[in-house]
Amino acid sequence: MTVEQKSETLQRFVKELGEIIPSFHITTDPYEIEAISGDLSLLPKYHYKFKETYLADVITRPGDTEEISKVMAKCREYSLPVTIRAAATSCFSSSSPTMGGVIIDMRRMNKVHEVDADKLIVKCDAGISWIKLIESLLDAGLAPKCYPTSYKSSCVGGYVASSGKAGVGSAKFGSIKDTLISVTFVKPDGSVEKITKDSKGDLTFDNVVESLGMYGVIAEVEMSVTELKTSMEMVGYGFKTFEAAMGYFLAIKGNNINKPFFLSLSDKKFEKLAHKTLPTRPFFVYAVFYDDADKTAKAVAFCKETADKGDALVVEDWYLKEKWDDIADTELTLGRMCNNPVFQEYLIDDNRVQTFYEVYADEGRKYDYKDAFYVMAGSGTNNRIKLFGLSDIANSREFFGIKANFHTMTKQAYKQSDKLYTTGVVNTFYHLKFNPEDVANRKALKVKLDPDELVNSYRFVKAKMKFWRVDFLFWVAKFLYTVV
Ligand SMILES: Cc1cc2nc3c(=O)[nH]c(=O)nc-3n(C[C@H](O)[C@H](O)[C@H](O)COP(=O)(O)OP(=O)(O)OC[C@H]3O[C@@H](n4cnc5c(N)ncnc54)[C@H](O)[C@@H]3O)c2cc1C
Repeated sequence: MTVEQKSETLQRFVKELGEIIPSFHITTDPYEIEAISGDLSLLPKYHYKFKETYLADVITRPGDTEEISKVMAKCREYSLPVTIRAAATSCFSSSSPTMGGVIIDMRRMNKVHEVDADKLIVKCDAGISWIKLIESLLDAGLAPKCYPTSYKSSCVGGYVASSGKAGVGSAKFGSIKDTLISVTFVKPDGSVEKITKDSKGDLTFDNVVESLGMYGVIAEVEMSVTELKTSMEMVGYGFKTFEAAMGYFLAIKGNNINKPFFLSLSDKKFEKLAHKTLPTRPFFVYAVFYDDADKTAKAVAFCKETADKGDALVVEDWYLKEKWDDIADTELTLGRMCNNPVFQEYLIDDNRVQTFYEVYADEGRKYDYKDAFYVMAGSGTNNRIKLFGLSDIANSREFFGIKANFHTMTKQAYKQSDKLYTTGVVNTFYHLKFNPEDVANRKALKVKLDPDELVNSYRFVKAKMKFWRVDFLFWVAKFLYTVV
């Protein structure tokens, strides 16, 4: 198709889209396109500086399921690529276009449809932010069971479509999948399917959760919620070794009297970068309990008893409170301490966090960039580990050195039967290399629902990068950083 033909087709598309969606919710403005095509990381911006396919041609904001359905059908009619985007906080280009086309910005879909305080159920649009949902549920004395610490901006559908396995509430109530009752889903041809636990249609919860939008749009979500509790307490202890900190972390995580509402383990560098002051010991375990007063008190007593048995140093209350107040900003604050934050996230099982850390510490001795290590407890035996590298944009040797170190850690994660926490466009080549069985299953469904691969393409089943190429590039980067 020539440039003129493409432009003419897009004009026709936009005109016809205007018959479905109010025209002020459709834009081709280059500034909006640039802003919405990217995400919180600098990566998509880096890509679309060189490749226009990372920029959308049109952005639209549907207001309800029917509008989404019509938009999807229209995009298919025109064979236009579609990218589904919520708040774009999951990074890794997961909500950025890879072939231009249309971005469906979900954030106009932000209504609560039904709150059932007796059955403890809420039904809402998928584009609602967690903070808005939390505020809406307050009046009914309810709260979501789990949500990411990015809750101030991220959306319900974004958490369902990404991992949804670790965040606030996950260690206590489980993952987002455990809370789902039904999902109203719009497939690439525009047809709508209601998915429940016993679904007999094309899709199950397993297909939709952590799908990165590759099969279509989560339009509405019905999920179980919890009653508001009356008592919140925090505990925090410093440890001299990672092993001691991890032992304590697992003891708290496994205590069935009252599971923590939030639980993390961080190294001193993380605390130093995220807060003005810091605990004195190299490792810090932080737990928040939220329940009825007697249960909270029992859990806190258990934490104190366990800490007294080992060499743990109590951290002052004001620091624990400050940390909770800052919880939504912590990971961002860390990124603000440099002009080029780089990070990678891993899903590591309880039993293998120690090995993962040992390899990290060992590899880390070869590098001298500013780093930080952060573990967040997830559902069951899951943990989200986030590695940070604070780099200088002018120092490309350092930037690629950090990426090379993360590459080593990613191979380690798969070698020990774990995986990346967030796949996204940029991490998909790891998935192709290490999870061929999952790739084959996803591919079969993808071909069935989206034969032309127009919707959220290049996630999970097809990569822009080849593993061997990246492996070689990072080998060179590591050599240049550590040897030369
Ligand atoms: C400060 C900070 C803290 C974070 N804390 C956590 C945490 O505690 N736990 C955690 O798991 N993650 C965390 N994250 C990562 C991220 O915030 C979460 O994954 C979040 O759920 C993403 O939501 P979002 O609305 O930003 O989705 P986006 O990033 O916009 O989208 C994520 C993926 O889902 C797809 N998608 C979005 N909406 C839909 C939909 N309605 N239908 C179909 N596909 C869709 C997108 O195409 C994309 O592939 C954090 C990130 C930051 C920056």
